[in-house]
Amino acid sequence: MPTQWESLANEHILGIAPYEPGKPIEELERELGIHDAIKLASNENPLPPSGRVQKAVIAALQVANRYPDGSGHYLRQALAKKHGFMPEQIVLGNGSNELIELLVRAFLRPGDEAVMPHPSFVVYPMIVQAAGGVRVMVMLRDHRLDLDAMARAITPMTKLVFVANPNNPTATIVTAAEVEAFMSRVPERTIVVFDEAYIEFALGPDFPETLQYVKQGRKVAVLRTFSKASSLAGLRVGYGVADADAIALMNRIRQPFNVNSLGQAAALAALEDEAHILECVRMIEAGRHFLYEEFDNLGIQYVPSRANFILVDAGRSAAEIYQKLLHHGVIVRPMTPFGMETALRVTVGTPEENRKLIKAFQAVLGKNSA
Ligand SMILES: *Cc1c(COP(=O)(O)O)cnc(C)c1O
Repeated sequence: MPTQWESLANEHILGIAPYEPGKPIEELERELGIHDAIKLASNENPLPPSGRVQKAVIAALQVANRYPDGSGHYLRQALAKKHGFMPEQIVLGNGSNELIELLVRAFLRPGDEAVMPHPSFVVYPMIVQAAGGVRVMVMLRDHRLDLDAMARAITPMTKLVFVANPNNPTATIVTAAEVEAFMSRVPERTIVVFDEAYIEFALGPDFPETLQYVKQGRKVAVLRTFSKASSLAGLRVGYGVADADAIALMNRIRQPFNVNSLGQAAALAALEDEAHILECVRMIEAGRHFLYEEFDNLGIQYVPSRANFILVDAGRSAAEIYQKLLHHGVIVRPMTPFGMETALRVTVGTPEENRKLIKAFQAVLGKNSA
């Protein structure tokens, strides 16, 4: 009998369901015989990076024969200044996804527990499982993280707690008051990871200021990304803020050139481009309200969103609606893998894309606009 590859594998990974990336949009168009399809499936920013950012990338391209700055010197310095930290308290990642992985690899020992909400970002359980950790999934309550239940789920074996705020796929937040009450219950030995990928869309007086916990010396890591509000998903740049000792441990296992030079240049330029972020945030906010109104007309239920996507419940098979929307050139994300049989996650697009989404829903659900 030849040896099977699976018998050679790290046993921790065998229980992980393979990630199914979506097809390129061009491939899908060819298969379905459609054109001008729009992708509202991955919570990307519908606006391209600003001209200023594009110029910075083109300039960086001229020296792309050289390895990137492995320390991310200028970007970390700019981020440290922006948030009032030392550069030693900042780590850059190939997207914030890599930082989730660095945190888990640096701190989670086999058998340690990681508490996480469910449904939430699928990357948390995947990486925890790959590291031989124990996933402790705490169900959402009314589509929101149940921080009370998450605090109760912490045991002496709990090393990490993931708080996605806003949460993906529900786009709900936990408030400053809720986080404060939660933090007062988290023991010193447990690290809280605040994943704030969508913070720019969520800001408001009720949104927690989690960087203060880092300043207070709590065992906290805050993750942010340039992928969403900054329009740089394709360049893969995220960052983490934590105590310098925590960052130093993550740096021990970080690949020296994890963030490429084009990404560093783009992120640095994007940091100075607050007008772009403001424009996106305003567009998304207007888009959310447009979609709420149209969903109301269509009898589609939705969870009010504090991010650039909306969880909807169309009241019938999400897998079927997803397929039908595809034939109308609209790609969304069915929530079937989460066991939510009638729910879909739709990314808020440009006004034009949002209108196309609604037209497609009208056709699929057999309803005309009111
Ligand atoms: C999109 C998203 C991220 C960002 O990932 P990057 O690797 O920075 O592109 C992080 N967390 C959540 C919950 C997300 O939805």
